[in-house]
Amino acid sequence: MWQPILDKFSSRLEGWSGKLLSIAGRLCLIKSVLCSLPIYYLGMFLMPNSVADKLNSLIAKFLWGPNSNRPIHWIKWNNLVKPKEHGGLGFFDLRLKNRALLNKWIWRYSVEPDSLWRKIIDAKYDYEQSNLVPKPITNRYSSRVWRNILLPLQNSNDLFSSNLCFVLGDGKAIQFWDDYWTEVPSLRQAFPRIFSIALRKRGCIADFGSLVAGKWEWSIELRRTLFDWEVNMWSDFVDTIDRAAKYHADRDCLRWSGSTHGFYKPKDYCVLVAKLGNVDNNPIWKLIWQNLAPPKVEIFLWRAVQNRILTCFELGKRGISGLGNSLCPFCVANTETSDHLLCQCIFTWQVWQKWCHV
Ligand SMILES: [Zn+2]
Repeated sequence: MWQPILDKFSSRLEGWSGKLLSIAGRLCLIKSVLCSLPIYYLGMFLMPNSVADKLNSLIAKFLWGPNSNRPIHWIKWNNLVKPKEHGGLGFFDLRLKNRALLNKWIWRYSVEPDSLWRKIIDAKYDYEQSNLVPKPITNRYSSRVWRNILLPLQNSNDLFSSNLCFVLGDGKAIQFWDDYWTEVPSLRQAFPRIFSIALRKRGCIADFGSLVAGKWEWSIELRRTLFDWEVNMWSDFVDTIDRAAKYHADRDCLRWSGSTHGFYKPKDYCVLVAKLGNVDNNPIWKLIWQNLAPPKVEIFLWRAVQNRILTCFELGKRGISGLGNSLCPFCVANTETSDHLLCQCIFTWQVWQKWCHV
């Protein structure tokens, strides 16, 4: 099924490989054409890892040396596919893009309750029409496409599902104990003792309270009176649900807290995931990409900051022979490193002085 995409990638790359494009030109093609070619497939089907690896490696090879069999990959792939303000080049790994686009279906399920496709899904999987989020399917005879789309809902650590929160409206679609509608992901887990003495263990919010004159009044029945030491816990519990019940919408709805506006956008998800782990917040990245210089100069700076420009020293480290020695060709006194070439060399200083009139 993915072979046409692989073929399309290869044919595009062959068409471009003969052309003398700068790295900035190649980056532009990667962003505008290569990463967009498989959008239809990525938005519908989960891409196998082998295909993602192949496509990502074709992109990396095109970036670093389309006309060479084994180009030097100057920067690691994981550092390329980050937002520009965190040291990357601002495009995303296709595997991540794939997941981000598939998540959109779960979001659309919630915001398009009257659409035909949702009605078909509801009928096929016997979902309640009031559902805000489709329930994960484990039946292996069900559609693999839909099962793959719902995968994040089975993983509580996933950044898509863990940021899905419910906004209370009429309380008919949100599960009181289990859904993420208060400041805690689940009341059942945050208040296990209250849950254990509650008479009703299931049901939507409207089963536990009602809206009276614009304010929620709760009727949570307990199977015994509270012990003294449980009273504070109970008041915490009531404060928590009261705080969540402050805002009223017409119907219950969904909010994705991974973005500031509350709506799910695949790009916001990609940025959120790309920021995981050791985030490089060095302010220099923002300075580089200010459009103060042509794109190819910006990319040169981006590489120079990371000591990844073609100096004799760096080429020697990568086993490029035939350079004789790694001395700076201008002063022939010091090793040609990025720092030396751009800042320390006496000849470079003369250029800077002339240019800056100092
Ligand atoms: Zn020098």
